[in-house]
Amino acid sequence: MIKKFTLAFILFLTAIISNCQNGNEYHVFALKYDDGPKIPAQQGIVGANPKDSVRICFMVWLLKGENGRNILVDAGYLDTTKTENKGYVRPDLMLKRLNVSASDINDIILTHPHYDHIGGINLFPNAKVWMQKDDFDYFVGEAWQEKGVSEGFQKNDVRNIIEINLQGRLKLVKGDSIEIIPGIRVFIGSKHTFENQYVLVNSNSKTNKILIASDAIWFYYNYNKLLPATLCMDPKAYVGAMKRMKTLVTNPDFIIPGHDDLVFTKFPNVAEGVVKIGN
Ligand SMILES: [Zn+2]
Repeated sequence: MIKKFTLAFILFLTAIISNCQNGNEYHVFALKYDDGPKIPAQQGIVGANPKDSVRICFMVWLLKGENGRNILVDAGYLDTTKTENKGYVRPDLMLKRLNVSASDINDIILTHPHYDHIGGINLFPNAKVWMQKDDFDYFVGEAWQEKGVSEGFQKNDVRNIIEINLQGRLKLVKGDSIEIIPGIRVFIGSKHTFENQYVLVNSNSKTNKILIASDAIWFYYNYNKLLPATLCMDPKAYVGAMKRMKTLVTNPDFIIPGHDDLVFTKFPNVAEGVVKIGN
């Protein structure tokens, strides 16, 4: 009798635990919101072969939780130029292709504040924005001082993120290997910007995690040859972070770079300009 009860209880607990785990797992999508040209690899990769080239593109990532939570990694940018840009689709309109509207986004994990990652932030009025505190401090402060590095930053984005903070929607993250949302952990140390972060996601597969490197890996070329990006504050740290990423996933195919168009041929297409990563 006791044995039966114990067995039933264990089964009950197992069911609860696996349910909880399911709730904290995410379907991961990459959405290309702008095309780019083929460029000489040397333009983006220190030490690349002068004969090699890479195709650049711009993307954001949607994490669709089995718990109903919709999370964006980065917000893309707003194209305000008057010239016709055929490849560009506003990031919120890309989301529509997955039947997700801008107001459905609960969180934005901002990997770093370069214009092509933060510029679309005001498209998502309900989102909490998660950013590394040291990256935020640098972005709104030292970057604009005499010896600061503001390349890739835009002043209007500084104003926007401060306004989001005033609205109480900014969540500053302090440090490395922190689970900011159940099933989602962020890491630092890559030094693409002052303190950019990359994101490890529990995907809907028992054995595989998906790592969204964003610009901690610009191109597969960086990762395959362990070469730093041309835009970074510490090349050694950048390479060190890529080595570390290999230890964080069981399948290196699920490490996703920030600007490589190959992402859109490597994974199954589920809508125009959208691929699903993982299984
Ligand atoms: Zn960047």
